Amino acid sequence: STSNKQYDLTVIGGGPGGYVAAIKAAQLGLKTAIVEKRGSLGGTCLNVGCIPSKALLNSSHKYEDMKENFDTYGVYADNVRFDLGKMMKQKDAAVRSLTRGIEFLMNKNKVDYYKGWGKFADSTTISIDLNNGKTKSIRSKNTIIATGSEPSPFPGGKLSIDENRVISSTGALSLKEVPKKMILVGGGVIGLEMGSVYSRLGTEVVVVEFMDRIMPNFDKEISSTFTNILKRRGFKFMFNTKVVGGSLKKNGAALQIETVDGDKLDDLEADYVLVATGRRPYTEGLGLENIGVTPDVFGRIEVDDKFTTNAPNIYAIGDVIRGPMLAHKAEEEGVCVVENLKGLNGHVNYDAIPGVVYTHPEIATVGKTEEELQEAKVKYSVGKFPFSANSRARTNNEADGFVKVLTEKDTDKLLGVHMIGSNAGELIAEAVIGIEYGATSEDISRSCHAHPTLSEAMKEAMMAAHFKAVHV
Ligand code: FAD
Repeated sequence: STSNKQYDLTVIGGGPGGYVAAIKAAQLGLKTAIVEKRGSLGGTCLNVGCIPSKALLNSSHKYEDMKENFDTYGVYADNVRFDLGKMMKQKDAAVRSLTRGIEFLMNKNKVDYYKGWGKFADSTTISIDLNNGKTKSIRSKNTIIATGSEPSPFPGGKLSIDENRVISSTGALSLKEVPKKMILVGGGVIGLEMGSVYSRLGTEVVVVEFMDRIMPNFDKEISSTFTNILKRRGFKFMFNTKVVGGSLKKNGAALQIETVDGDKLDDLEADYVLVATGRRPYTEGLGLENIGVTPDVFGRIEVDDKFTTNAPNIYAIGDVIRGPMLAHKAEEEGVCVVENLKGLNGHVNYDAIPGVVYTHPEIATVGKTEEELQEAKVKYSVGKFPFSANSRARTNNEADGFVKVLTEKDTDKLLGVHMIGSNAGELIAEAVIGIEYGATSEDISRSCHAHPTLSEAMKEAMMAAHFKAVHV
């Protein structure tokens, strides 16, 4: 059935990019609709991404910490054990309450929420295959495509992800048993987070990585420090190695691997293979052909710096376009589009988008890496401070890691901050604000930081960048 519902803005996709844009639009007075096929809001992030992974990282860390470290504090927890099913239930409860919370926010802000598959009929008409079997057609002056991404398939297509023995992150978030051995294909953030969960619960984890290091986009010192910490915890790494084939075994899978130069290596076998080679933009069944938009060779929707596609009233944001695949990046872009629709000055500063890895210790980064500055021939200064010299990290018995600050040599302006250490994901916010406001390292080091806190390590690294740290 068709309806003559007319909107100022329709958002296709209810992930962090889409739902935040919809709320913002409604708050700014636009008549807004959101279309989501999944049956719950929150997208990849809330349903099968950020949120469930952080729940499992938290519970597995509690278990490991109690088992490995509590006696150091004179606290004895005998016979520490875990129940994977219960961990999964706690994770599901967190996901459920958060996705329902977003549905509540849609009602509160009077955003019309259509549960179904959205498809362009033309540039101002969206036809929706509702999940209840009916169809509906709505009219919209503007539309934001926020359809996100999906896991990339097995490299070379030799073995498909069946979510049984050969799994993606989605499968890894709902395993019924703890693997004995897990091969992680790809040493990126998502794989290392999920690998950490199971490693803490007793799984032997082997990482097969094509590049010569894990997380190749991160600052090199961070990635090598992290590799050493993971090795200490029992991770095995095979760098410069590629998967060229694979087959299912009775209770697992075997992978054929080679060095990047093509030298054959012994097959790797495990009861579980986690394919974490990245994610690809998702635009299936969206009817892009009806609005004259063609994805690029990577499947991404091309946009200009205002997120406009080559259809002037249609925008795209988040994982479906270029840039880091992060929830908060998608949110910033959505807000920017909506503000510009209202004639406000929407803007996204890509130099001030933090990236966090929620392992233990955490990794957090914002701005340029040292390698990027070298490549761009920028003259820079480095300030470093180890958590082993921070009083709070020592009292907490969590002294691994450091803060590394990069500033422009002549002006002392902050260009990048990279850190590995306990709570790094929370601490990085200060550096993000510094970069956003054009701060120098001196500005931040002259701001008073409470004692004893981990944040003093940030202050000391800032001091080291333009003069000297006090506590080393
Ligand atoms: P998505 O969240 O992918 O949402 C798109 C939505 O659109 C989906 O719900 C989909 O069902 C819907 N959709 C698609 N096509 C249609 C259609 N035609 N009609 C209707 N609906 C449609 N990022 C972080 O910042 N921090 C993290 O800690 C983090 N952890 C992650 C852990 C894992 C395991 C994974 C997989 C990802 C993680 N990410 C993390 C990445 C993050 O989830 C994504 O960057 C983010 O979800 C992108 O948001 P989005 O709105 O662009 O798309």
